[in-house]
Amino acid sequence: MADTIKFVDVTLCDGCRACMVACKNWNDLPAEREEFSGSYQSHEHLTANTWNVLTFKEQENSNGTLDWLFRHSSCMHCTDAACEKVCPENAISYTDHGSVVVDYDACIGCGYCVQNCPFGVIQLNEYKEENGTTQRRAQKCTLCTDRLDNGLLPACATACHTGAIQYGSKEEILAMAKQRLAKVKDRYPNANIYNPQGVNGTHTVYLLADKPSVYDLPEDPRVPLSAKVWKDYAQPTGKALFGVTTMAVVGAFIGNTFFNKDKGEEVEGDERNE
Ligand code: SF4
Ligand code: SF4
Ligand code: SF4
Repeated sequence: MADTIKFVDVTLCDGCRACMVACKNWNDLPAEREEFSGSYQSHEHLTANTWNVLTFKEQENSNGTLDWLFRHSSCMHCTDAACEKVCPENAISYTDHGSVVVDYDACIGCGYCVQNCPFGVIQLNEYKEENGTTQRRAQKCTLCTDRLDNGLLPACATACHTGAIQYGSKEEILAMAKQRLAKVKDRYPNANIYNPQGVNGTHTVYLLADKPSVYDLPEDPRVPLSAKVWKDYAQPTGKALFGVTTMAVVGAFIGNTFFNKDKGEEVEGDERNE
């Protein structure tokens, strides 16, 4: 199957939040009551039940006037996903579309993925079992993998009336991103394509009007080396020698001690992350 990408061109977004409503609707996610914070932004950040949030930023431009910057934020679907690497239960996996998904039945709610996602995306949900016990599990945007499997576009892309969210083959989307970058440069001199290579590229790619940090995105996110070592060497060997449960306990220690969110250094350039 072709490698596919969701492209978010923030310069076309008008902040209507139809993508948020479509996501809640399609994924049957409950509403969450939020306090008014003085901003039009409805939620402070992503939650286990809110898989995309429209962020609102006010930014003074070179003419001394204000730009109102919007961003549809959701899972990046990293090619090299830290959440997948650190999960001791192999509950997180890649699909043929390139999306990263959680197997709810396998998730034990340990939260290592939450601790290690460089973008602060994945979150834990608490729910009650039929026997009354409380369980936790990790939840996030699926890239609408169930829709992709049936030849449909992601619900957010379908709902977006300005064309700010597009979905297509990697080649088409990256070519489109370059064309759009060239078009918006006059108006947004700091515009750039965000497709961070520290995680080997992502399946949500942005055209940003300003530096990633303006949008609360890390400039150069990376998978922590300790997570790679854990996934590729320690976990397989440990499970063979000591069993799954023991390795989960060891994982808790390692996760809390060594894994961190390496936000990296600032990088210059228009296509800094291509
Ligand atoms: S953004 Fe976070 S939750 Fe999404 S795939 Fe990357 S590491 Fe996993
Ligand atoms: S909470 Fe733990 S078990 Fe569940 S997906 Fe995250 S790392 Fe895996
Ligand atoms: S791709 Fe689907 S799950 Fe992800 S933000 Fe869009 S509507 Fe929500």
